[in-house]
Amino acid sequence: MAFDVEKIREDFPILSRVLPNGNRLTYLDNGATSQKPEVVIERLNRFFREENANIHRGLHYLSAEATSNYENARNSISEYLQTPEDSELIFTRGTTEAINLVTHGFSGEIKEGDEIVITLMEHHANFVPWQILAQKTGAKIRYVTVKDNGELDMEDWEAAFTEKTRIAAFTHVSNALGTINPVAEMTAFARERGVLTLIDGAQSVPHGPVNLQALGGDFFVFSGHKVFGPDGIGVLVGNRDILNRFPPYQSGGDMIDKVAVEGTTFREAPEKFEAGTPNISAVIGLAATFEYLSGLDWDGVRKHEQSLLQETTERLKSAGGVRILGEAPGKASVISFLMDDAHPQDIATILDNVGVAIRTGHHCAQPLMTHFGITGTARASFAFYNNRDDVDALMAGIEKVKRIFS
Ligand code: PMP
Repeated sequence: MAFDVEKIREDFPILSRVLPNGNRLTYLDNGATSQKPEVVIERLNRFFREENANIHRGLHYLSAEATSNYENARNSISEYLQTPEDSELIFTRGTTEAINLVTHGFSGEIKEGDEIVITLMEHHANFVPWQILAQKTGAKIRYVTVKDNGELDMEDWEAAFTEKTRIAAFTHVSNALGTINPVAEMTAFARERGVLTLIDGAQSVPHGPVNLQALGGDFFVFSGHKVFGPDGIGVLVGNRDILNRFPPYQSGGDMIDKVAVEGTTFREAPEKFEAGTPNISAVIGLAATFEYLSGLDWDGVRKHEQSLLQETTERLKSAGGVRILGEAPGKASVISFLMDDAHPQDIATILDNVGVAIRTGHHCAQPLMTHFGITGTARASFAFYNNRDDVDALMAGIEKVKRIFS
């Protein structure tokens, strides 16, 4: 069906909320978390009203039904992501846990003197776990710099690789700048040098289907709550052989093969990495989310998001006194900005007073902020359900900020 934003908005009950201060909700904090369509809310509701049971261990009807819905979710989400044949899909708590699982897995493999490549535009979730891994093992991290316009410096990226490089981790889309990195090129470059790669897809999957076979790489991670699905759930897609040689991340029920006083043997991935009762409802809710997303006209979505991005960028620039951080060509619909006199906190507070939700601060990307010599920005991040009224509300708020601070 052709993309019609007003029709799409009807799918998201929260978008018609009127806030206690009487303002229409203008939700421009999609980079932090996105809103949920009615079908996902209903799917969660149905699970708890009619289907709730623990999986894998029960012989009764409800348990078998929940188990099959859980495993079917793994399959349908794999299909949506076009995962490679030689990969496994593991459910985690989110992007953060997925990356920690991978860095924990590498802790026995990385040796003193090995090198890890990450970038200065990483979210702390794809920064700190690598730092901790490096500290534990004596490995060295090389940080790839970012150009003034927010693009990753590809010359610096290539120069960061040495004989000792073992792993490279990088974001697909920057949460603070909106930059879309050339990840297929990056995974190919690394692979040619025998270097393993992890792609942080937390900010890319919300903007359109990804084809993991085409992107390449050994690990891909993202969070359910940013892709219009439930929170407390995330996905790690990883190369099967590498996962199977990793030690368990957590241990306990469900991940074992045989437990005895003499010792325990483990199952293979994915079960090996899903110890204990998982977030069953959220997995089933996430499958419903991707079913919903599969029905969208993504060409239409991309055009729509790009036109919101362009219009907002132009209007912010012509408002005067606004500096936009990150203008990489073809970027995603995320706008980080600063205003001459107003602190980002002031901008967000004034916008909140008129019902506009944006985010301020370092966006969990302090190394990037330091690189640009700032402590934070104001950030408006758009999803496909945002419309021109949202842009108008944002701009009316910006005019108010200007009046107060002029
Ligand atoms: N990576 C990126 C690029 C992100 O934007 C975020 C969330 N802001 C994360 C990782 C962490 O995701 P989560 O908090 O859902 O684990």
